[in-house]
Amino acid sequence: MNNLNSPFLPDMVNIWQQTMNWTPTVQQQDLFQKLYELILSGNSQQNLTRITDPQEFWEKHLWDSLRGIAFLLSRQAQENTPDKEESTPSLPSSPQSPTFIDIGTGAGFPGIPVAMTVTDSTVTLLDSTRKKVAFLDRVKDDLHLTNIKTAIGRAEEIAHQSQHRQRYDVALIRAVGTASVCAEYTLPLLKQGGLAVIYRGNWTEEEATSLENAVQQLGGTIESVEEFTTPLTHSIRHCLYLRKVGTTPSQFPRAVGVPTQKPL
Ligand code: SAM
Repeated sequence: MNNLNSPFLPDMVNIWQQTMNWTPTVQQQDLFQKLYELILSGNSQQNLTRITDPQEFWEKHLWDSLRGIAFLLSRQAQENTPDKEESTPSLPSSPQSPTFIDIGTGAGFPGIPVAMTVTDSTVTLLDSTRKKVAFLDRVKDDLHLTNIKTAIGRAEEIAHQSQHRQRYDVALIRAVGTASVCAEYTLPLLKQGGLAVIYRGNWTEEEATSLENAVQQLGGTIESVEEFTTPLTHSIRHCLYLRKVGTTPSQFPRAVGVPTQKPL
């Protein structure tokens, strides 16, 4: 039963509304289903994800990806409702639509669900594995996701290239390294005022202390840490929101492998 909208599964649309104050359109639900099918078939050629059960896919790949930008989705949904309080965190005020990069996107998470929902923004999907990026290009073409760009490379190198350094409003990163490593990968890519969203499972005081130290060296600040539970399995998750408040010194990120071997 490879159908995310099967009547035998929980009412996913209702859960989006209750947990994020946002409802996917019928077209978006259709895109989620098609993405799921493409990933299942891509899995037969390469190891894209171990998460293939429909409920698990919905919760861990779709819901979790969008939870990091829930503040943005709920604001979009309320656009026509005056007198609503500004949600935090916020995006940098930019005359154009914000630009996103997803670092170490793998099979496209969180970047593809974000691109499907924030359709007036460009989302760059970066991964160091050529084969995974070839798969992402197929998804982009098959689903006509014209707001997706892809890039092959290591974050440590890409972030020194002028077409990427300080070019993005939002940098997303999930399951790529410790929080300090994620900070070193994301902050150099952000414009001043930009936001990094680091997706985490558990979160401890010790990690907070080392992240604080790393972020200071990189020209950023920890704006907020959100703790939440996932809606089906009630697992604990965290999203860390870092704001770029200064300039990242040019030596960051350090050479390939150094951020993971010698975290800041
Ligand atoms: N973000 C996806 C998710 O949450 O499902 C994939 C996570 S997977 C565990 C980590 C991915 O990051 C892999 O696809 C790997 O190739 C990529 N990766 C690891 N280090 C990287 C780096 N320094 N630069 C770019 N990609 C990297």
